[in-house]
Amino acid sequence: MNVPIRLRLTLLYFSFFSLAGVLLAFASLLLLERSLTALMLHELDERIDDLQASLGSRAWETELLRAELIREYRLKDEGKWLQITSSQGEWLYYSARGRVSDPMPPFPSAAGNLVPFVASPGHALRTLSRDVVVAGQIYHISMAISADRSIAILARFRKDLWLLVPLVLVSAALVGHFLSRKALGPVRSIITEVRTINERNLSTRLSIASTADELSLLSHTINEMLERIDSSFRSVRVLTANASHELRTPLSLIRTRLEIALCFPRTPEYYRTALEEMLAEAVRMSGLIDNLLMLARYDASAVQIRLSPVDLGLVLTKEAHEWAATAECLSLDLQLDVTMEQLWVLADSDLVERMLRILVDNACRYTPSGGWVRLEGKVCQNRVVVTVLDNGIGITPQDLPRIFDRFYRAQEPQHQERPGSGLGLALARWIADQHKTTITVDSELGSGSRFEFSLPQFRP
Ligand code: ADP
Repeated sequence: MNVPIRLRLTLLYFSFFSLAGVLLAFASLLLLERSLTALMLHELDERIDDLQASLGSRAWETELLRAELIREYRLKDEGKWLQITSSQGEWLYYSARGRVSDPMPPFPSAAGNLVPFVASPGHALRTLSRDVVVAGQIYHISMAISADRSIAILARFRKDLWLLVPLVLVSAALVGHFLSRKALGPVRSIITEVRTINERNLSTRLSIASTADELSLLSHTINEMLERIDSSFRSVRVLTANASHELRTPLSLIRTRLEIALCFPRTPEYYRTALEEMLAEAVRMSGLIDNLLMLARYDASAVQIRLSPVDLGLVLTKEAHEWAATAECLSLDLQLDVTMEQLWVLADSDLVERMLRILVDNACRYTPSGGWVRLEGKVCQNRVVVTVLDNGIGITPQDLPRIFDRFYRAQEPQHQERPGSGLGLALARWIADQHKTTITVDSELGSGSRFEFSLPQFRP
């Protein structure tokens, strides 16, 4: 059943306070009963003490004592319950109310209550029996007083408690309602604040209460989540702006080139050069779109990596062959240094080839003609280490930490004047992440760069 949390809290508080009220009522009743009983027993005890004091300390003869007691107590004990026997069980005295038969009943048993006192119907007695010693003689004294007043007080108290029950229940419900409202107040204000947040004001943060409790922790956690969403939104906006900018540049180049070419009749050579330039821009654009699509698919987790045994030595050799013509065209010395061991790893061969291609492409683009680019593959501490080195333009320490960010390009003019989109290394890093490895880079402006990654060696 889907009961709202506020109702649940109210019911919880209500049950708790009702139960506490009922327990308190029972406890007070019990305590009152015990106090009244204790009071009556105390009174009886005092009366027996008084009686003992009045007997003094002389040794009484039985008849004399009986006569004395009848003389002394006959008048003043009216309304009292009192019985006295000697240690032999012989009757010495019983008050008018204590009398159960006339003449005197036979001797009661030696110990305990003498003859049970009989209260009139509808009335109750509280009795106390005690032995007292007077001049070496033991006397059994049994005394009673009416318990009617205590019973009446208890009955009255019980009635008052019953009258209080509805009051307690109503108060418990009200207190429950109030407390649940108060407890859920901060939650309601969090809900109100969260409802006002949308994609246009993602930088808004919830106010955090100074109390270090679960609710301030909740606000804090929501704020952290907002921070993450905000930063992803920001990077998506930056990405969209960068992507539009990167696509607009080649498009406007193509358009301008076309407009100029179509302005006047041109020679076939002119058209050919213009078309070649436009083709180069189109190739650049499709490469960019390709990378963007790839990153979008990675972000959407739509790319499944398939691990299989791959010989990285073979991949490096293949890559070196593919880039040989380009290197020659750029007047670069492309070197391959692969150890003779087999460089087997578990990897997604397509993705690893793509990562290597990005690194070699960068090395060739950022190395001026006359320079060299080297591909290395070796085994080191059970890992296959792949390194792409060049003696190109290098990277400044300020740019190094950011070159793996999407669309980031080093700020130096030598970097900016070369074509590029700043997406290659972002892709390479994603591929490395998928293989649970990292690409390390070591570079110095003007001296060259060294990009390296390693994978655990696989022994079939
Ligand atoms: P781009 O398409 O701009 O090359 P990348 O993401 O591949 O994008 O590289 C990001 C930036 O890192 C490049 O713009 C460049 O400034 C720098 N970079 C990458 N590789 C090298 C390298 N081998 N030598 C010098 N700079 C490099």
